[in-house]
Amino acid sequence: MRDRSGRAMRDRSGREPSTVWLPYTQMQTASPPLVAASTRGTRILLEDGRALVDGCASWWTACHGYNHPHIRQRVAGQLDRMPHVMLGGLVHAPVLELSSRLAALLPGDLDHCFFTDSGSVAVEVGIKMAIQYWLNRGVSGRTRLLAFRGGYHGDTLATMSVCDPEEGMHHLFAGVFPEQVIADLPTDEARTAALDAVLSARRNEIAAIVMEPLVQGAGGMIFHMPEVVARVRDLADKHGVLLILDEIFTGFGRTGTMFACEQAGIVPDIVTLSKALTGGTMALAATVARRHVYEAFLSESPRHALMHGPTFMANPLACAAACASLDLFETEPRLEQVAALSGWLAEGLEPCRAMPGVRDVRVLGAIGVVELDRIEDMARLKAALVACGVWVRPFRTILYLTPALTITREDLGVLTGAIRRVIREGAFAARP
Ligand code: PLP
Repeated sequence: MRDRSGRAMRDRSGREPSTVWLPYTQMQTASPPLVAASTRGTRILLEDGRALVDGCASWWTACHGYNHPHIRQRVAGQLDRMPHVMLGGLVHAPVLELSSRLAALLPGDLDHCFFTDSGSVAVEVGIKMAIQYWLNRGVSGRTRLLAFRGGYHGDTLATMSVCDPEEGMHHLFAGVFPEQVIADLPTDEARTAALDAVLSARRNEIAAIVMEPLVQGAGGMIFHMPEVVARVRDLADKHGVLLILDEIFTGFGRTGTMFACEQAGIVPDIVTLSKALTGGTMALAATVARRHVYEAFLSESPRHALMHGPTFMANPLACAAACASLDLFETEPRLEQVAALSGWLAEGLEPCRAMPGVRDVRVLGAIGVVELDRIEDMARLKAALVACGVWVRPFRTILYLTPALTITREDLGVLTGAIRRVIREGAFAARP
């Protein structure tokens, strides 16, 4: 990190300049990052001794809080036995267990799990699966995806192409990646008719629809009703295109049910999972296909196989962590905790609605959002939040909370209290 005159800057602990290149960050102007030393429960402990209550569970991953002893124990046991082995031609106990447990947990015949190491790659694999599904069935020309305005599905080339083209952060790359079909979510009759029309006109080019069910997360924490997801399923069936649901954010209890698609009562053809899959401890993702999708890859010909295979796919440590996380969903009352948390979020954030500069307050499951008219000074707002003892990461015009599902009422009160305070004090406005 360099200051404006090009001198290397020290971090807040006075260390020599960091060589770490941070994501989504203008490295020239950003304040030096805080240094995290350890985590515990719902707190991030900084090297300078401060403790921050974590309001975003490390990008929506640490659903059981940090350092859960059960996950640590299962990972430690696996570390002794076998930290890694390639999946090509080999399988191992943790991946076999995880795969069958996910298949049992997911609705319908979503039974075949392909493991990768990040959410973006899981979606990328879903896109490849959908395109090859048609090729393997002898149908050519179905190479496009239909995605929704407001969506976010990752940062790789194919996933950038299915993000929101205008508001999204990838517009610089427009023209580099394949052009997709972008539509509005069918949230009303007019939009449903428009989606129907576009599918009718372009069904022969479209391999699949890709959507985030119930919440478009990084696109602005935009909520929609379960009926919208069901409507998309109906239209996909009507026009014979596949449906990929991206549950990377919504999966594992975040919206109040284990998976968001359960609330819509539908089964997608492909679902992508990551983030809370390992309880937020390790990089792992899964692209899970229904039987008919999987069967399209079965033949005498090697050309019909799925040609994808990240080196660290299904890493045994990560699979052990994921199995441990699933244990916790069975042995601890997570979904009941989400129901309580939802009420606390509403109670704590609702007073913001009456404050100047607030456009909307909304809560769904363990997601609480305060949307402002604008954030003029993001750096000032972030600093004010840290000064309140919380780790909350606003973006665009959004202040949101997605804490661990295990957070106590007291800690949640610290988070909602901090949000009320920074808004009341106008910490989002330009410095006077
Ligand atoms: N899909 C959704 C819905 C996401 O929210 C994200 C990340 O925020 C991704 C995909 C990309 O996941 P990753 O950052 O692990 O690549």
